[in-house]
Amino acid sequence: MRSESQRGLTIVYTGEGKGKTTAALGLVLRAWGRNFRICVIQFLKSETGRWGEVEAARKIEVEWHILGQGFTREDDDQRVNLELAHQAWRFAQQKISSNSFDLIILDEFTYPLHYGWLDTGAVLEWLENQKPPPLHLVITGRSAPPALIKAADLVTEMKKIKHPFDQGIKGQPGIDF
Ligand code: ATP
Ligand code: MG
Repeated sequence: MRSESQRGLTIVYTGEGKGKTTAALGLVLRAWGRNFRICVIQFLKSETGRWGEVEAARKIEVEWHILGQGFTREDDDQRVNLELAHQAWRFAQQKISSNSFDLIILDEFTYPLHYGWLDTGAVLEWLENQKPPPLHLVITGRSAPPALIKAADLVTEMKKIKHPFDQGIKGQPGIDF
């Protein structure tokens, strides 16, 4: 357990540049070193097992959940996206209100908010009332809704200056996944 005085922050990593998820993973490492109880919930990535961070989480025994498989494609049935998003959010709500964690990462959580599968106002109101005060909560993803930015304590926008993708260089193991 952390000290009573711990002030839980709501942290948002957003923007078009690379580094949102990896910034959150950096916090996971730092918090792990402090014996924090950590939970990572990924809202977009499908479970392939090839993600370096998932392998690392297994080794250091960080609780890790991959939800929202199939969210990403534009031609997806919106009702399916809506239902998946609500299921995933209910799961996250249980973890957040469980009082079992000091740090929770909601990776790529901006997307269900941005696409309107979840109501941003309702999500923020629930967090305002139900997030345990000492819990640090990190949300990543592009297109963070303005209301989320307003509610957060810390917001960093990753700005792309260069990305190897523009030179046709594909994602690199250990760097991109
Ligand atoms: P990372 O997981 O590497 O920190 P991220 O979370 O900031 O990246 P996402 O939008 O989640 O970015 O996209 C993840 C993947 O897309 C990574 O492989 C990343 O290198 C790549 N990526 C991120 N930003 C860009 C960009 N501006 N152009 C092309 N590819 C990008
Ligand atoms: Mg990401």
